[in-house]
Amino acid sequence: MTDPISDVSIFTGRYGALVPDGLEASRQSCSRARGGCVVSSRPDTVVVVGAGPTGLALACELGLAGLHTRVLERREAPRRDSRAICLHARSVEMLDLRGLGERFLEAGLPVPSFPLGPKGAVIDFRRLDSDFPFILDIPQSQIESILLTRAQELGVEIQWSAEVVDVAEDDAGVRLRVEGPAGAGEERAAYVVACDGLRSLVRERLNVPFPGAPNPGSVTLADVYLDGLPMTDAHGELSEGGMLLVFPFRDGSCRVVLYDYARASVPVTEPVGLDEVREGLVRVTGSDFGVRDLYWSSRYRSESRQATRYRVGRIFLAGDAAHTHSPAGAQGLNAGFQDAMNLGWKLGAAVAGWAPDWLLDSYHTERHPVGEQVLRLTGMQFRLNTARNRRGRLRRRAAYRLVTPLPPVQAWMARRYSGVSVAYPPTISPSHRLTGTRLPGGRLTLADGTAVRVSELFHDARFVLLESARDGKRADLADLPDHVRAVSYVRRDGRAWPPSLLVRPDGYAAWASDEPDPGRRAPALREALRTWCSRADAARSTRSADTSP
Ligand SMILES: Cc1cc2nc3c(=O)[nH]c(=O)nc-3n(C[C@H](O)[C@H](O)[C@H](O)COP(=O)(O)OP(=O)(O)OC[C@H]3O[C@@H](n4cnc5c(N)ncnc54)[C@H](O)[C@@H]3O)c2cc1C
Repeated sequence: MTDPISDVSIFTGRYGALVPDGLEASRQSCSRARGGCVVSSRPDTVVVVGAGPTGLALACELGLAGLHTRVLERREAPRRDSRAICLHARSVEMLDLRGLGERFLEAGLPVPSFPLGPKGAVIDFRRLDSDFPFILDIPQSQIESILLTRAQELGVEIQWSAEVVDVAEDDAGVRLRVEGPAGAGEERAAYVVACDGLRSLVRERLNVPFPGAPNPGSVTLADVYLDGLPMTDAHGELSEGGMLLVFPFRDGSCRVVLYDYARASVPVTEPVGLDEVREGLVRVTGSDFGVRDLYWSSRYRSESRQATRYRVGRIFLAGDAAHTHSPAGAQGLNAGFQDAMNLGWKLGAAVAGWAPDWLLDSYHTERHPVGEQVLRLTGMQFRLNTARNRRGRLRRRAAYRLVTPLPPVQAWMARRYSGVSVAYPPTISPSHRLTGTRLPGGRLTLADGTAVRVSELFHDARFVLLESARDGKRADLADLPDHVRAVSYVRRDGRAWPPSLLVRPDGYAAWASDEPDPGRRAPALREALRTWCSRADAARSTRSADTSP
């Protein structure tokens, strides 16, 4: 099946060789199974519906947590089209938390700025407080390919040609009806996460409203070579004829995004060819930039919608199934990715039995407001860029000439678009100013003299308790649960942290204390650990303090 919002994609073979190990095995296991697709009866199984970027990122998190994880995907093979084309800094930071940063950096092209529309109007990320002060241009198919490989390394089962046609919760968990080439079958799961995209069947079956509307007009997307532009940074142009955004890829080709007013009402089912791209470039900019060798194209009409609930009992919504918006600011894939990082460790805790009662609900509490913010931000930029009346054009000119170049506005936009400004409401009161904010990267010197990157401490997705040992005073860190790693450090590059900081597996501060005396802050620390890292009635396994990464 194809997505109704962009029915026609043209390929010329370039995205061809993406068949990973295990694909054939997955197909065979489906057709061998009696009565259709494999029936899972393990009570601890988590089923992810959809192997898009959100589903695959979540599958990696669940696999890392040691859960029996099955991804059911109706496509018969990995995606070959590129759709979204960049990762923002927060997404790269999170990949780095799991040791995947290098793989993505090798595949993508870091570019320092993001085009807003008019020539020269950009968001400059170079001063961003991040280990990754740029956007990483990388086609969605490559993002999915890397995540798929990682998920398989972690033992996740990926079932291709498996379409979920019904889902319902019962006393024993969740029941899914699945159709494959060999017929229909049933799967059971402890939890199900719907990562099945904009037209989510799971969301529909749950009767979760998805209010919103299609955005006016369509954009033309084309992956091509442009000999007339340097492929080192993003480029934008805005004129009476429309808007052009260019995102270079590592191999010298690029994504052209054309909002060509003359073609904005063409049905999305009409294919986009090289001639249309060339003519559109000339209409919008006056030049065709030597465009050549189109290898993928599509016409895309976005929608702006958000599900009213991200959780119904044991079933969760994530990614486009939960929120969708205009591609302005390239937020879609990034927001879904962060949903996955927020939910993965919480489901891990629930299946392992140590999740506090409120933890699974916090997925909606934390991510729904972020989705609202993304909708507001992308809606604002979309309206600004596509306004065609006189008042709208004047507002646009004022915004891009007078407002966005201002350094404080640049800093705000860089933090907002990159995702590093996302913060979650505090759970413990009174709260420290860092609670809910993301832990920036950088390097630490541990108590034993070893230097580590902060991100290395999170590779196995545990809580990390960072205790400063600068003044020689050490907290008594015995009796911590297995899922909390204690780290004593003597120095941090950059701004100092509070003496004690408890950080969640997804890199957000859960609790912090400025009290320098370990003995005096111990009761508050115990309370934080009890709140975040244990069920009141769960037996906890314990281990001694571990000061190595
Ligand atoms: C043409 C196009 C261009 C885009 N360009 C951009 C861009 O430039 N920047 C940007 O940020 N975003 C862009 N987007 C949006 C971006 O691609 C999405 O935000 C992103 O793919 C969302 O990921 P997801 O995993 O949540 O959903 P999807 O990528 O939609 O994945 C959902 C998966 O679920 C599977 N599925 C659906 N129903 C079932 C079922 N019943 N059973 C089993 N499997 C099922 C689908 O086959 C699919 O693989 C674009 C989208 C399109 C269509």
